[in-house]
Amino acid sequence: MLVIIITLMAVVVLVGVMVGRMLDLREELERQSALRRSAEEVIREGGGKYVGIAERKRAEEELKLSEERFRILFEYAPDGYYLNDLKGTFIDGNKQAEKITGYKREELVGKSFLKLNLLSLQQIPKAAMALARNLVGQPTGPDEFVLNRRDGGKISVEIRTFPVEIKGKTLILGIARDITERKRTNKLLEQRTQELEEANERLKELDRMKSNFLSNISHELRTPLTSIKGFTETILREKDMEEKNRMEFLQIIKEDTERLTNLINRLLNLSRIEVGKIKPKKENIDLIAAVKEVIEGYKSQARLKQLNLVHELPDNLPLIYADPGNIKEILSQLLDNSIKYTEKYGRVAVLVKDQGKEVSVSVMDNGCGIPKEELPHIFDKFYKVERPAEQVGGIGMGLALVKSIVEAHGGKVEVESEVGKGSKFGFTLPKGNNDG
Ligand code: ADP
Repeated sequence: MLVIIITLMAVVVLVGVMVGRMLDLREELERQSALRRSAEEVIREGGGKYVGIAERKRAEEELKLSEERFRILFEYAPDGYYLNDLKGTFIDGNKQAEKITGYKREELVGKSFLKLNLLSLQQIPKAAMALARNLVGQPTGPDEFVLNRRDGGKISVEIRTFPVEIKGKTLILGIARDITERKRTNKLLEQRTQELEEANERLKELDRMKSNFLSNISHELRTPLTSIKGFTETILREKDMEEKNRMEFLQIIKEDTERLTNLINRLLNLSRIEVGKIKPKKENIDLIAAVKEVIEGYKSQARLKQLNLVHELPDNLPLIYADPGNIKEILSQLLDNSIKYTEKYGRVAVLVKDQGKEVSVSVMDNGCGIPKEELPHIFDKFYKVERPAEQVGGIGMGLALVKSIVEAHGGKVEVESEVGKGSKFGFTLPKGNNDG
């Protein structure tokens, strides 16, 4: 019986405990479901709002990133990028725009091209034209401008502009490219091209000179040689020739031989014409005596053409420092030409003048003269004036040699001439010792 009572009491306690646990469980379940309900309610009511915020935040971040990317592209672009309004006032500019102008962005922004004096006066109309085209919605350029930099230097740029709309407002996007290097290269290229063209011209001129020289030299050699050969053969063949005739022929042979010797000597002078090759052996000389001596040597030649050979020389000319051989050579050459290019009964005069620090010597004639367009070339090597009807020879070296000698003495040559009236060839010589 006791056992039964104890068992019953234990069962009651156990059931009580179990019921209590079940009630707890139920309570817990109810609390949880209430919580879920309220959570669901919260989610239903306000959850959408939370999701929207997150998305917007992500979009904003993306926008920021892309802005940053664009800013980097803009900042580090190799060309100067800038924005300005329709009055030309800067709104923004990248690093290269700063580099080109020399102004910091803060100094650029809010100021116009004009205010910053970026354009010279001559460039303003060009800039105004570009602005006018922008105003009607057209892009411009590339146009070349030279900008005044902040440091006072100049910079060559090529500018393109594009009207752009930002928030309903028209602005101008400008792209400025520094073309200093390109211009320098172009200039160098132009220079090189010009040098090449000049070298080409010189080569052509050399070619022309070579042809002239060859034709002149062959004529100059052949004429006396043909004459010498012909007269020698005649003398040898005609044993009974009259003495007077033989003497005349021998005289011609002698003159032609002298002509050949003279030509060969002048040819040997050829290399001397090159600049710097003439090294005068200077000494103090009596120029008047030298002039008189040369004139004396030409008297018979002048007489043959019945020319009036005169001179006008100063008294008491001090000694001058020059190479006597050189001086006689140039005087001979000028006199030779004047006599050669002056008709019978003409006049040839030698004039020496004391000009203070220098002496001037002129040889004048009233011969055939030289066409004006030929005068600038007359002292060139192998340059000859074409004279079709004329029989005078020459290889165009005489005056080139005169010029080289005079310049080696520190003097200058000059020529005045008029066709049909005559010529005046002159040169100056410094009086003193200017060898340094
Ligand atoms: P060349 O030895 O052939 O005479 P030059 O150098 O002495 O060469 O002269 C060059 C050219 O100048 C000649 O072809 C000649 O026609 C012209 N000339 C030189 N001197 C005179 C002068 N006094 N009068 C006219 N022409 C001259």
